[in-house]
Amino acid sequence: MSTTIRNIAIIAHVDHGKTTLVDAMLKQAGTYRANEAITERVMDSNELERERGITILAKNTAVYYHDSKINIVDTPGHADFGGEVERALKMVDGVVLLVDASEGPLPQTRYVLNKALEAKLTPILVINKIDRPDARPQEVLNEVYDLFIDLDAGEDQLDFPVVYTNGKLGTATMDLKVPGVDLQPLFETIVSTIPAATGDAEGALQILVTNLDYSDYLGRLAIARVFSGTLNFGQEVAISKRDGSLQKAKITKLFSFSGLKRTDIEKTEIGDIVAVAGVEGITIGETITNLENPAPLPLIVIDEPTIAMQ
Ligand code: GDP
Repeated sequence: MSTTIRNIAIIAHVDHGKTTLVDAMLKQAGTYRANEAITERVMDSNELERERGITILAKNTAVYYHDSKINIVDTPGHADFGGEVERALKMVDGVVLLVDASEGPLPQTRYVLNKALEAKLTPILVINKIDRPDARPQEVLNEVYDLFIDLDAGEDQLDFPVVYTNGKLGTATMDLKVPGVDLQPLFETIVSTIPAATGDAEGALQILVTNLDYSDYLGRLAIARVFSGTLNFGQEVAISKRDGSLQKAKITKLFSFSGLKRTDIEKTEIGDIVAVAGVEGITIGETITNLENPAPLPLIVIDEPTIAMQ
């Protein structure tokens, strides 16, 4: 398979339009890849839409654009969840900073953006709601630029591309004088700007657990990024635990993400974000690695408040 993978997070202040935009991306991505859209389009009642909004915000999502798979990782919009932001950002190589064209950047996004810039992630600016009568996209662009300067963004990061969107209509443009017709400019910008997730598929197994989920049938699911090696369904692995010990486990189910759903896979793709079942007691920050010659990644440091909350 020649799919390249892009792992991104969307950083947005609440109500700036993250759910609406991801929903539009999901719907349009179906038009670039057959089989995807049909099941996604069945909901139209308000209740289902609301439920869908909650799902979009709570889960990892993946959309396909031509030969690329774009994993969209959810990030908490604020600093209350110490450590969660860092964890989410470990999964990605780039961030989409989504800002309302009227409100401009607000304090809630500053914290997450700062973490993303510190982590040397590649940013893309999306100025949304350009249809608002009080939209002031040029000023908002200047405000965001000032914010980047204020946060000591690197030279490359200051070169961020800008896409203007109407999330409700599902349109994007890179030039305000030319109205957008669809989200293609946004997809193109993501694929051309955010580095593809790379790694050595033949190398030592290094799969970093960055989140947890739960399935009634399968129990605990580890959400993880494949940094190195290839994990196969049924494989026996070692889990490098927080305390430094190694625990043997057998992978009973493997999933990748597609649209809003998890889909069964036989083996992982390098760089992908996957869900893994069969590893009792696995927790965030641990590495799934080889049983022989284990090569764990460094544990993710989690802020004190998070540990206290668990
Ligand atoms: P979230 O909290 O960031 O996920 O924001 P939502 O996607 O729920 O959007 C918040 C509100 O903004 C909703 O009422 C949306 O319909 C509205 N909205 C989203 N995108 C646009 C847009 O491009 N233009 C306008 N006018 N409204 C939008």
